[in-house]
Amino acid sequence: MERQQEWGGERRRVVVVGGGVAGSLVAKSIQFHGDVTLIDSKEYFEIPWASLRAMVEPSFAERSVIHHREYLTNGRVITSSAISVTDTEVLTAEGRLVPYDYLVIATGHAYPVPKTRPERLKQCQAENEKIEAAQSILIVGGGPSGVELAGEIAVDYPGKKVTLVHNGFRLLEFIGPKASNKTLDWLKSKHVDVKLEQSVNLNSASEGTYITSAGETISADCHFLTTGKPIGSSWLKETVFKDCLDAFGRLKVDENLRIRGRKNVFAIGDITDVKEIKQGYLAQKHALVAAKNLKLLMTNGKESKMAKYEPGSVKAIVSLGRREAVAQIPWTTTIGIVPGLIKSKDLFVGKTRKQMGLDPHIVDA
Ligand SMILES: Cc1cc2nc3c(=O)[nH]c(=O)nc-3n(C[C@H](O)[C@H](O)[C@H](O)COP(=O)(O)OP(=O)(O)OC[C@H]3O[C@@H](n4cnc5c(N)ncnc54)[C@H](O)[C@@H]3O)c2cc1C
Repeated sequence: MERQQEWGGERRRVVVVGGGVAGSLVAKSIQFHGDVTLIDSKEYFEIPWASLRAMVEPSFAERSVIHHREYLTNGRVITSSAISVTDTEVLTAEGRLVPYDYLVIATGHAYPVPKTRPERLKQCQAENEKIEAAQSILIVGGGPSGVELAGEIAVDYPGKKVTLVHNGFRLLEFIGPKASNKTLDWLKSKHVDVKLEQSVNLNSASEGTYITSAGETISADCHFLTTGKPIGSSWLKETVFKDCLDAFGRLKVDENLRIRGRKNVFAIGDITDVKEIKQGYLAQKHALVAAKNLKLLMTNGKESKMAKYEPGSVKAIVSLGRREAVAQIPWTTTIGIVPGLIKSKDLFVGKTRKQMGLDPHIVDA
């Protein structure tokens, strides 16, 4: 096992685990203030809310799949999964022990994705070819991913038959029923066949025939599964942080976004137990609070001066193809071109790239 010792001389060693929305932003924000190492199971950061557009327009992924080295110019990247952690070191799947003075855990969700950027771009291309070749498409899951995918396909390929099956009694259960109803009407207007309170056993599908839990038969040339992704905390379950996890596997944090009872360990993004909906724009806010606090602690600032995180209110925009969207903000719910103008054309890709210090338009090398 390789033990990495002398990294960075006097600068404090900050290890960030997870290179998603929150982890990549915190790593980028503190890279000139500490000796930063980002450990991620893949070599790139992908803007998640652009991934469904990339299925109908694969070239879209060229701006939204960003190699970590593009924004982390003064830090180190280890492309490997973290598999364990102690009070002083992180252990990776490749057997590296990475020592830290400060640790940030940002492993929001863990699911298999290609390790390299070229492989991920190829996967987007393959998904698009699957859609192009199909006359009928089944989408399983009526959360934001399923709805956005149905919207993308219905708008870009109006001739294809799209069926969306969801086991809940309404779409988009993470926001209010008004948004669900408006979205259902919109999908129906685009001839998407929505089946609620049903599930599909994909293993029993044969030759393009799928049977739902209600006994209905769906014919589809291909399917996409968009149900919820598992929380990325299983690697912590046998570690010094096992008692810091709540019943849902989320890390319990204090108002400064440190793991409760820990002085030098932060947790940010979807993996935290912060009482708010799990959204990327909130994960970005967590990252900025944690970055501020890390900078303060690394310069021996007073703990009492640390920034506090205030949980966000329910705000969400779910895109419906390239021009429209459904939005819920605290005082209203709206659907159509107006919320679409905010999100649906560029899906905040330019904005996110800018926040990462990158050109909003130019594609990575
Ligand atoms: C399709 C889709 C559309 C969305 N649309 C929106 C939207 O429009 N607006 C919005 O605000 N939010 C949106 N969200 C939600 C948003 O993407 C999440 O809230 C956000 O990604 C959470 O960020 P995170 O950094 O906590 O976790 P993630 O972004 O899930 O990042 C976790 C990272 O940790 C890595 N990882 C996991 N386990 C390990 C390990 N053991 N070792 C090393 N690395 C590990 C993963 O590879 C990943 O890079 C969307 C999500 C999806 C899936």
